[in-house]
Amino acid sequence: MSEKYSCIGCGVNIQTENRDEIGYAPPSSLDKETIICQRCFRLKHYNEVQDVSLTDDDFLKILNEIGKSDALIVKIVDIFDFNGSWLPGLHRFVGNNKILLIGNKVDLLPHSVKPNKLINWMKQESKQLGLRPEEVFLVSAARGQFIREVAAAIDEYREGKNVYVVGCTNVGKSTFINRILKEVTGEGDVITTSHFPGTTLDIIEIPLADGKALVDTPGIINHHQMAHFVDKRDLKIITPKKEIKPKVYQLNEAQTLFFGGLARFDYISGGRRAFTCHFSNEINIHRTKMENADSLYEKHVGEMLTPPRQEQLDHFPELVKHEFTIKEAKTDIVFSGLGWITVNEPGAKVAAYVPKGVHAMLRKSLI
Ligand code: GDP
Repeated sequence: MSEKYSCIGCGVNIQTENRDEIGYAPPSSLDKETIICQRCFRLKHYNEVQDVSLTDDDFLKILNEIGKSDALIVKIVDIFDFNGSWLPGLHRFVGNNKILLIGNKVDLLPHSVKPNKLINWMKQESKQLGLRPEEVFLVSAARGQFIREVAAAIDEYREGKNVYVVGCTNVGKSTFINRILKEVTGEGDVITTSHFPGTTLDIIEIPLADGKALVDTPGIINHHQMAHFVDKRDLKIITPKKEIKPKVYQLNEAQTLFFGGLARFDYISGGRRAFTCHFSNEINIHRTKMENADSLYEKHVGEMLTPPRQEQLDHFPELVKHEFTIKEAKTDIVFSGLGWITVNEPGAKVAAYVPKGVHAMLRKSLI
């Protein structure tokens, strides 16, 4: 494509090569008088936003933009991957703007998780990470649970201002906005986009009734997300689709569990005890003796221990060991983006192994 075209909706430069990147339009659309990118097309005709991702630098520019405006910020995280889906820099830019924190995918949690405990944990964790949201909500964007409540809260807290929706890729931001749009506009209303003034960033404004806007920012790629280390085809294995069913393992000292080939758990010492695993129902859990674990992994990663796939092994990061001593009753050992293991009694010495870059940590149990 030699000539330059821009989208009549958002002003972005049109490209026809990559569907998942900013500014895509099908080649046939170049013959038309006015050209609109696929993203604006979907929004205009189907009231649907589509996620695009961008680089860290662009994200900083967006954060700066948010910091300079007087707006309500709605930040979305995946509660199944809280730390992996956290946007680390946001708190430095929010200024005096109010924030609502939305934990999405509540439908995946087992019934035994108490929502209030999770909300309190999210509040504490946010505070430690430097963010003080006005309120924390749990929703399921996919199922529409608690969307009405959030829509009402957004309307209350925005006090007639614009609303910025931010979140990293895969948290369900698009699904969430699409739900909110249905809630706010009703079915069938045609929404048009407008270019965000003064920037070439891929931000779109969705007009609200009072002349203000709901601003959809691109999904940020968070390099600590487990999701980046698995093949796209395997995402459905690690991302639970339905409520997770906890699996209990009675382990002796010096036993190991593998979660596919993505993570490993060593029970080092503390006498025979139960460990409750909360992972996607599709992920294969393999038990072995700790003394055999290294060689088993070396031999079988990519086949019996999968994901990762064989063809990914050259680029797959090594598993890094994080050792913990469980000091309190009811503790979760979290494998960010993959799941967690609940231990009921204190005194166990354990190790969690995750791909280099991914977080492993302890938290007070959600159950
Ligand atoms: P975005 O990249 O943040 O815009 O995320 P998407 O809206 O594209 O959603 C990412 C993935 O999460 C998709 O596979 C969705 O089906 C799934 N998803 C989104 N919301 C929910 C939810 O509330 N519950 C569940 N179980 N899955 C969800």
